[in-house]
Amino acid sequence: DVPVPGAGGTRFDLEKETELRFEVEAGERVQLELLTGLAEVFGSELNRNKKYTFGPGSKIAVFTWQGCGVCLYGKTEVAYVSKDTPMLLYLNTHAALEQMRRLAERDNERGPRVMVVGPTDVGKSTVCRLLLSYAVRLGRRPTLVELDVGQSGVSVPGTMSALCIERPADVEEGFSVQAPLVFHFGSTSPGTNIKLYNKLTSSLAEVYSQRCEVNRKASVGGCIINTCGWVKGSGYQALVHCASAFEVDVVLVLDQERLYNELKRDLPHFVRVVLLPKSGGVVERSKECRRETRDEKIREYFYGFRGVSFYPHAFDVRFSDVRIYKIGAPSIPDSCLPLGMSQDDTQLKLVPVTPGRDLTHHVLSVSCAEDGEEGSRRGVVESPVCGFIVVTAVDTQAQVMTVLSPAPRPLPRHTLLIMDIRFIDLK
Ligand code: ATP
Repeated sequence: DVPVPGAGGTRFDLEKETELRFEVEAGERVQLELLTGLAEVFGSELNRNKKYTFGPGSKIAVFTWQGCGVCLYGKTEVAYVSKDTPMLLYLNTHAALEQMRRLAERDNERGPRVMVVGPTDVGKSTVCRLLLSYAVRLGRRPTLVELDVGQSGVSVPGTMSALCIERPADVEEGFSVQAPLVFHFGSTSPGTNIKLYNKLTSSLAEVYSQRCEVNRKASVGGCIINTCGWVKGSGYQALVHCASAFEVDVVLVLDQERLYNELKRDLPHFVRVVLLPKSGGVVERSKECRRETRDEKIREYFYGFRGVSFYPHAFDVRFSDVRIYKIGAPSIPDSCLPLGMSQDDTQLKLVPVTPGRDLTHHVLSVSCAEDGEEGSRRGVVESPVCGFIVVTAVDTQAQVMTVLSPAPRPLPRHTLLIMDIRFIDLK
C-alpha cells in the first residue's frame, strides 16, 4: 500500500552536515522525496521531486552536506534528525583513498586495497557502500569483495563473492549485481568451516589480482573488502589471513579499539590501520531480523525485486543425472585420521550426499566445474558457482527431486553443492 503521492507527508528541514534517520515499520512502506537542496543516501545522490520507496524494516539515513528539505510519506517506526554523524570522517577516509588512487595512476602502481572490519552491527556494509559509491562517482572502478557469509550484499547467503562496481548504488536497491564472481561456502557462519573460508578468501584474492594485471582501471580502483562481524579467535585469524591474501594497504576498524590494537600489532607496519567511530544511526539487528533478511535475499534471487519480477521454473531432476556434494567431512580427532592426512584435507573434502527426504528445502549451488572434474579437489571446491536451486520436494521411490530454478530445465551443470541454508518457497 504505497502512500498516495502528495498525501499527508511529514516535512523535515535539515541543516548542513546533518542526517534524517528513519526506520520503516513492519508490513509498511515509506516514500522519501527531496524537495529542496542536495542530499544522499549512503553515498548515492537523491534526485529532486522523485519518490523513493523503502520496504518494511528498512533503516535509512538521508545525509546532506549543504542542507535540504525532504518529505516522508507512510508509517515510520522512528524518524529523527541527528547532528552527530561520523560522515565527515568517512569523507576524509574517501579523500585519502582517492589520493592513493591518484598516486597509483601517476606511478603506474596499484590502487588501495581496503579491508573494513568490526563487530556486528557497526555499519561495515554501509561504510563499504559509501566508499564504493564515492569512488565510482569520481569515475573509478573499484571492486567490492564480499566476505560476509551471513549477510551478503552481492549474492545469496552462504557465498563469498567479488563484484566490479561501475555505477553508484541505486538509492532503493543497492549496487546493480551483474556478473559477480561467486563461490560456494555453504553456511552463514565462517566458523562452520574456517579452512574453506580462508581457502575461498585466497581464491578471491587470486582472481582479483589476475584481473588487476590485465585491467588497469580495476587495479587503480582498488578494492573494498567487507568482512564478517566475528572478530575473535579463528574469526580474528581469518581477518589476518584476508589482509595477507589480498595484501591490503588499509584496514578500517569500526568502533572497536581492542580489535584496532590487535591488528596494529599483528599486521605488517606498512599496513595503515585506522580506527573509525560507528554511526549512532546503525541499528542493532536481532537474530530473527537477520534470518528474515537472509530469506528475503534468497526470495529476491528467484522472484526479483520491486520493479523487476522473475518467474522461476519448477521441474524434476533425476538423482542419477546429478552429483550432490557437501564440502567438508565432520572433523575427527587427529589420532583417528589416516596416516598422512591432516584436518585441512577433511575440511576441504568433497563428501558425496545420498539424496533423501532431508534434502527438502535446502539451497544447492550449481558448480561451474565441468562435469567430471570432481576427481580434482580444486575442480569443484575452488570453482565459482553459476547459480542456485532449491529442492522443493523429494520422491525417493521415483528417485527424483523437484527443484525451483531461475532458468528452465535442463540444469547447466550437474555438480551440486549443498548448503546448510534452507528456503521455504511460500509462493
Ligand atoms: P553486519 O555485521 O551484520 O553485516 P554491519 O556492521 O555491516 O552489520 P550495516 O549492515 O552496515 O552493519 O548496518 C546495519 C543497519 O543499519 C542497516 O540496515 C543500515 O541500513 C542501517 N544504518 C547504517 N547507517 C545508518 C545511519 N546512519 N542511520 C540509520 N540507519 C543506518
